[in-house]
Amino acid sequence: MSKQKRDYYEVLGVSKSASADEIKKAYRKLALQYHPDRNPDNKESEEKFKEAAEAYEVLSDAEKRKRFDQYGHAGMHSGADFHHSQDVNDIFENFGDIFENLFGAGGQGSSRRRGSRGEPAPQRGHDLSQKISISLKEALLGCKKELKLYHFTACETCKSSGCQPGTKAKACSECGGAGSVQYRQGFFAYSQPCAPCHGQGFTIPSPCKDCRGQARTQKHDKLSLNIPAGIYDAAELRLSGKGDAGIFGGPSGDLYVVVQVQPDNAYTRRELDLVTTINLTYPQLVLGCQIEVKTLDDTVEMIKIPKGCPIGKEIKVAGKGFANLHGKGRGNLIFITQCHIPTNLSEDTKQVLLSYADKLGNTSADSDGGITGFFKKFLG
Ligand SMILES: [Zn+2]
Ligand SMILES: [Zn+2]
Repeated sequence: MSKQKRDYYEVLGVSKSASADEIKKAYRKLALQYHPDRNPDNKESEEKFKEAAEAYEVLSDAEKRKRFDQYGHAGMHSGADFHHSQDVNDIFENFGDIFENLFGAGGQGSSRRRGSRGEPAPQRGHDLSQKISISLKEALLGCKKELKLYHFTACETCKSSGCQPGTKAKACSECGGAGSVQYRQGFFAYSQPCAPCHGQGFTIPSPCKDCRGQARTQKHDKLSLNIPAGIYDAAELRLSGKGDAGIFGGPSGDLYVVVQVQPDNAYTRRELDLVTTINLTYPQLVLGCQIEVKTLDDTVEMIKIPKGCPIGKEIKVAGKGFANLHGKGRGNLIFITQCHIPTNLSEDTKQVLLSYADKLGNTSADSDGGITGFFKKFLG
């Protein structure tokens, strides 16, 4: 995150209103231009290729694109790192389909970096994804959660080599390490994965006993996760390297945690604002008042209802809303005024109300907006 990121639209060279099809076309063009197969060992092309893939990953996903439009790059971070493909091979895994027409079936395979002939190639572990549910209050204040996960971790006995300590993998004698065998039939040559080594090009003569040559083992783990204040529903947090361990020395995948914010009975979120309704009596609205309210974060706010306050007015307490994850400042706490209408009045109160109605007159014609009618009678 140290480097200044370019705008995704700028990366793909499309306008903000570009259609899904235009985005796909633009990406294909760039992917073709900077494809590692065409630019071997060119760091700059590789960076450009990854940058385009990241931009495409976001802009091709309606939900992510919306978030990007709204919050910019910051909307992609959610307090932890945003999911972006780190490795050229991942890009093929994610977007393999888009390349099929460009490179044919060999496109993916040929760009995979293998180990040298007959040696185990390091492979990155898979990314994992998990959901976590938090309350709106936890989203407002931030929280610490414990995650339980079942994932692959590197085998310590064999240091992720799959071989019994003191032994090594060796090139497959059947295929000489190529992983495939050629057959010839008339004019045609066929290539088939080598059976004895399962197309890997190497064999492990004495597999590690703890992982049975798999170089990693599955186990239950616990992780503690800090969820930043201001997190929004469906935000994705990336825990780098907490996915499945890689094999043969490859890096671990990442763990993505998708945060689900449970709805609250009284409060809702509106952009960065925390919004609720406040029930007031008719006299409180007419005469104005000061009122003490306990808010979602358990602090007490003194709010002022102005004289002649209409229903639906928004009373704002600045800076008491959600923290802005992607910049400075906080949203506001907003109370929307609501009139509490009593349903069972005592006889006394009813008489007072009727005489009040008498005094006030039974027309609302001088109010602003809305229609009025011709008053007939009270019901009871
Ligand atoms: Zn092992
Ligand atoms: Zn073989």
